[in-house]
Amino acid sequence: MALAHVLGAPRIGPHRELKFALERHWRGELDEAGLRAAASGIRQANWRAQAEAGLDCVAVGDFAYYDPMLTHVALFGCAPARFGFGARIGLAEYFQLARGNADCHAMEMTKWFDTNYHYLVPEFGPDTAFTLDGRWLLDEVAEAQTAGFKAKPVLIGPLTFLYLGKPKQAGFDRLDLLDRLLPAYVRLLAALRAAGIEWVQIDEPILSLDLPPAWRAAFERSCHALRSAGVKLLLASYFGPLRDNLLTALQLPVDGVHLDGVRGGGELAQALDWLPATKVLSVGVLDGRNVWCDDLAAVLDRTEPLQARLGDRLWVAPSCSLAHVPVSLAPETRLDAELKSWLAFAAEKLEALGTLRAALNRGRAAVAPALDMNGRALASRRQSPRVHDAVVAARVAALRADADRRHSPFAARQAAQRARFALPLFPTTTIGSFPQTPDIRQARARFKRGELAEAAYVQAMRTEIETAVRRQAALGLDVLVHGEAERNDMVEYFGEQLAGFAFSQNGWVQSYGSRCVKQPILYGDVSRPRPMTVEWTRYAQSLTGKPVKGMLTGPVTMLQWSFVRDDQPRAVTALQLALAIRDEVADLEAAGIGIVQIDEPAYREGLPLRRADWPAYLDWAGRAFRVAAAAVRDDTQIHTHMCYSEFNDILPAIAAMDADVITIETSRSDMELLRGFGEFAYPNEIGPGVYDIHSPRVPSVEEMRRLLDKAAAVIPPGHLWVNPDCGLKTRDWPETEAALAGMVAAARAMRRVYAI
Ligand code: GLN
Ligand code: ZN
Repeated sequence: MALAHVLGAPRIGPHRELKFALERHWRGELDEAGLRAAASGIRQANWRAQAEAGLDCVAVGDFAYYDPMLTHVALFGCAPARFGFGARIGLAEYFQLARGNADCHAMEMTKWFDTNYHYLVPEFGPDTAFTLDGRWLLDEVAEAQTAGFKAKPVLIGPLTFLYLGKPKQAGFDRLDLLDRLLPAYVRLLAALRAAGIEWVQIDEPILSLDLPPAWRAAFERSCHALRSAGVKLLLASYFGPLRDNLLTALQLPVDGVHLDGVRGGGELAQALDWLPATKVLSVGVLDGRNVWCDDLAAVLDRTEPLQARLGDRLWVAPSCSLAHVPVSLAPETRLDAELKSWLAFAAEKLEALGTLRAALNRGRAAVAPALDMNGRALASRRQSPRVHDAVVAARVAALRADADRRHSPFAARQAAQRARFALPLFPTTTIGSFPQTPDIRQARARFKRGELAEAAYVQAMRTEIETAVRRQAALGLDVLVHGEAERNDMVEYFGEQLAGFAFSQNGWVQSYGSRCVKQPILYGDVSRPRPMTVEWTRYAQSLTGKPVKGMLTGPVTMLQWSFVRDDQPRAVTALQLALAIRDEVADLEAAGIGIVQIDEPAYREGLPLRRADWPAYLDWAGRAFRVAAAAVRDDTQIHTHMCYSEFNDILPAIAAMDADVITIETSRSDMELLRGFGEFAYPNEIGPGVYDIHSPRVPSVEEMRRLLDKAAAVIPPGHLWVNPDCGLKTRDWPETEAALAGMVAAARAMRRVYAI
């Protein structure tokens, strides 16, 4: 008998119940008991769904009120000392850690591996102590057991927990805490055993990273200790192949290992060879990271031989927790039937897993109708003219090797652009968006609901553009923008106008805490039926003699922030997106727009987990960006924008994008980030952000001057632009105008000093 299980389920509930309960709780409209009841409802529904799909156990402990890493901080009583909470914390303190309070800023947040989920980063130092507060898990285990489910508790493993934390002081080695942390885990595991638990899943996804040897070596010691509690351990890795960590993982003193059979499928044969004869192998055969129906016949072709070898030591599962896909297709009434038949959200993945389990244990014939339906859906997707557009394919195939090269090198372009725009030294600009006022959002919502006629909507947006342009001109900015009033979201706005994209009504995935995002679904060959931004930009340009910068979202960011096709390489999809954007750039240029910004805030996020895979990614990502940008004349200026990430280790790749100007977020690091650009002698122009747009605080002219002086010390002054860190859509107008007035004053002061 092959067993089936999931590593975790979506935490947000089918209609974002968690989000709404949390927000009501934080507003004081729902008491703690009410919040707990809502959370329990989500968990119970998840467990019921897993049991109904025929799984052999249910995942418990995968739920979190805000974030699983934070829940482990609570579970092990290691809240940052700066909060002064002590070892036992309740929900009130838990939310203060997540959201900050009057005295303490919130714990930092960062991306969970290469997903679009953000976890809270534990803080570790030499004084960190761990005190088990088992209620955070044991209560949920009891809840599942009381409801009659066979519970398989899920824990983030001690090494992943420590590794993903940050040291509170430079040079402190988090690994030094392992021996202090392990006894708390052992006590917890012993308590689980006493509660009648047979298997515990220990997630150690850092096994898919490049691990320092000391960390890899620590796994043996860690698992050895955990094992002493006497429960069976399933060590789970996911998000990639294990490579140099594979042998380590398979030889650990645990009772079973879970491998990502989708991203690490190529390692299964090797794993099978190395797997000790007593161990369970759980294989993640369904893609937990994407929204497509898995090819069940192909999965069975790969899994049946494993079953022949392993018998009941084979478990099957999705590759990773299902928290990374939307909850269910059931509420989708507007997706057309054909497209819907190609998709599988968490509920449908669960069903597919049940089918797979039945096929393995009772033969394919036992589930013939389900397999048949799956096969038909896949065949229709493979052949559909909605997916495959011969024109797009031909265009990609015919793309010349030099299609990503500008006509002239940067120096010649710079001269042509200087002659055309005659901008002052330290030119000022913004990143694109201006405040999205309630008026704007209301107009858009009413237009979408059909309550506002198109002509009236266009008029409302034109009025907003006019306001934005007038205000920028009055502030004395040098390069203006139209303000992006018409855009809800920088990916969705373009996706809605491109062929190949679809949008769900309810396909939410947790981004962090109560925040969910609904990623577009890129299902087919991408093309641009008609111009997307030209009218708005042309209108803005008609209102001013200063240059208006056109605003586009780049191909890599479109790719990163969508669910994309699994039937062709990401590189090909990126190239199709690039061609669509290239068309838009050409139309903007033809309409007289001299400066175009192609935003790539997700460029860095796309980096693979393993360094060895970086060059290949940077290669195709760079080409996609350049294909989007390169067709323009020398005197058309291409900007790009990136924010909130490390750049120093990919500077050559950023330079290779060959944007004439890059604007980046730097104020939070006090311009330190720029030092790398200086040392690397970044060849083109740079606009380091001179103020943080996340706060309503208006920075003083002197502050911004000081940052610009710091920048001018490492970057040639003639290459420097002056701009905020990022877009201003979350701000209000008064603070925006005040901050930009100061920014213009700071730039003017710089000009007086540096003018020759
Ligand atoms: N042009 C976008 C804006 O200003 C860029 C947003 C981003 O970097 N995430 O809103
Ligand atoms: Zn930004």
